[in-house]
Amino acid sequence: MSTTAAPTALSTLRGGEWLLQPTAADSIFTPEKLTDEHRLIGRTAQEFVRNEILPVLDKLEEKDWALARRLVQRGGDLGLLGVDVPEAYGGVGLDKVTSLIVSEKMAVSASFGATFGAHANLTVIPLFLFGSEAQKQKYLPKLLTGELVGAYGLSETGSGSDALGARTRATRQPDGSFLLNGEKMWITNGGFADLFVVFAKVDGDQFTAFLVERGFGVKSGKEEHKMGLHGSSTTALIFQDVKVPADNVLGEIGKGHKVAFNVLNFARFKLGAMCGGGAHGAIAESAKYAASRRQFGQPIANFGAIKHKIGEMVIRTYAVESLLYRTAGLVDARVSATRHDATDGGPALAAFEEYAVEASIAKVAGSEALNYVLDENIQIHGGNGYVRDYPAERHFRDARVNRIFEGTNEINRLLIPGMLIRRAVKGDLPLIPAAKALQDELMGPAAMPPADEAVLAEERRAVDAFKKTALMVFGVAMQTYGEKLTDEQEVLMHLADIAIDVFSAESATLRARAASDGRNAKAALQVDAARAFVNDAALRIEASARQALAAMADGDTLRTMLAALRRLLKVTPVNTVVMRRRLADETVARGAYPFA
Ligand SMILES: Cc1cc2nc3c(=O)[nH]c(=O)nc-3n(C[C@H](O)[C@H](O)[C@H](O)COP(=O)(O)OP(=O)(O)OC[C@H]3O[C@@H](n4cnc5c(N)ncnc54)[C@H](O)[C@@H]3O)c2cc1C
Repeated sequence: MSTTAAPTALSTLRGGEWLLQPTAADSIFTPEKLTDEHRLIGRTAQEFVRNEILPVLDKLEEKDWALARRLVQRGGDLGLLGVDVPEAYGGVGLDKVTSLIVSEKMAVSASFGATFGAHANLTVIPLFLFGSEAQKQKYLPKLLTGELVGAYGLSETGSGSDALGARTRATRQPDGSFLLNGEKMWITNGGFADLFVVFAKVDGDQFTAFLVERGFGVKSGKEEHKMGLHGSSTTALIFQDVKVPADNVLGEIGKGHKVAFNVLNFARFKLGAMCGGGAHGAIAESAKYAASRRQFGQPIANFGAIKHKIGEMVIRTYAVESLLYRTAGLVDARVSATRHDATDGGPALAAFEEYAVEASIAKVAGSEALNYVLDENIQIHGGNGYVRDYPAERHFRDARVNRIFEGTNEINRLLIPGMLIRRAVKGDLPLIPAAKALQDELMGPAAMPPADEAVLAEERRAVDAFKKTALMVFGVAMQTYGEKLTDEQEVLMHLADIAIDVFSAESATLRARAASDGRNAKAALQVDAARAFVNDAALRIEASARQALAAMADGDTLRTMLAALRRLLKVTPVNTVVMRRRLADETVARGAYPFA
């Protein structure tokens, strides 16, 4: 497989800069810009899942791990395990848009998606990014054919979110090797993996990553009895005097946090992609069921209440997909703007660090949109949604964990404003001067926006207003709490929700605008999806802003702030009923998500 040319003329805004700057519609990457090569690998992954995984899902759920291993190897044969790794190590070295597409397609089987993710994302990527040349030569080719299966051991009984609180110890031996003692919890592929990325503390406090072969003496605990993902292995890992050679330290001693956190930036983005892919599948199920299920003498798809649900499923998925492809485009543009050797993972590492806020947004927005979609999928199936004869209940159980792993959604919500503010304080993101300029603007007379009849002009104005609202609330929060803002989690959650809606609404609007400008056949429906999303985002942003401001001020000060908020957020409601109906009718007619 040849290397895909990186997209050109894409926006190279820095991470979080979208909050402060306008973006041109034609400068973001969208699914409409996929190349033939992107589509080809997408079809390969889709057919693999459809023809080889879904038919054997029940066997996987019976914990046939020999089968799971064979499927990982098939993924290797098809080149799906090494999308992020250059050919020199046995990968196919494609762009991040491709990796997004592969994750989307894999998610149609959530259980195998978890197996795949723990292997291709959580084992292959840290090894490629932090491994020595000898480690990469030794392990990567075998991981990429699926001869070896990987797993990632970070969490412990007492340390999940607080990953650096791990108690697993690595004791140095006179010959330079280490003895590992401790236990990891909830490890995906734990029952059958051969190679583990394991985090342990050297000399009591130096958090360090290790490459640990099962043959060194790793023992697996029993399979966990989970709510969902029954077709993926989840076990504890037990280390009792497991001897790990000095050569198997991954990265530097005491720098395990760099491995752990950077890998999470990749993994969160890809989890968002998996959620988008899962939503596509469920929307198709809902559309087909609603067309065939008759009540009161007609298909339930005719009822407005059902149209509302299907329309909303499409709208939320559209917004998530728009922000995912935009983020992949930002990463690819940044990587291709950095001169580097094909075997050097440094630029991708730096790009994901740059877009860590966007990766957290992808994870939170993706997992929550999917939750909504899968919940409504059950509702549309009625009683059939609650029994095992239909896949809706399995999807719902499988997806719940997406809000828990790769950093819970609370932790990711704390990270979003936290990282933005840290960059602002360091001077990397001019949020503070922008908030001051906004304060001055709000003191002056209101300016009438110039008339603009272009498609989505109102929505673009609304997105502008969302950004100003975000700036206002960020500014007040920073002024009110200073360094103590980290203690004010409720306000931080509101800030995160506002930022998520700003990025989602802008990404959807830009994509629909680009589709319109490019006379895409589905442009009118894309415009519907973007307009309805912006309409509802305005309501959510206003609610979050009001609650955050009321937590920080009262009396006349609060009244002045609320007056400023009203002045900023003048968004005229649109008729989302007709928009959702159009989207639902198209989805039901197609029996599928309309924009795939
Ligand atoms: C099916 C499955 C597969 C998994 N696979 C892996 C794997 O392959 N490798 C691996 O290492 N781990 C894996 N995990 C573990 C997973 O990453 C952790 O469960 C997750 O990080 C949360 O940690 P915890 O369960 O200890 O919850 P806790 O950290 O105890 O959190 C409990 C609650 O408290 C909240 N909370 C915690 N800290 C804060 C805070 N500072 N502020 C506000 N709220 C907070 C959380 O958001 C959550 O709501 C898996 C888990 C599951 C269920």
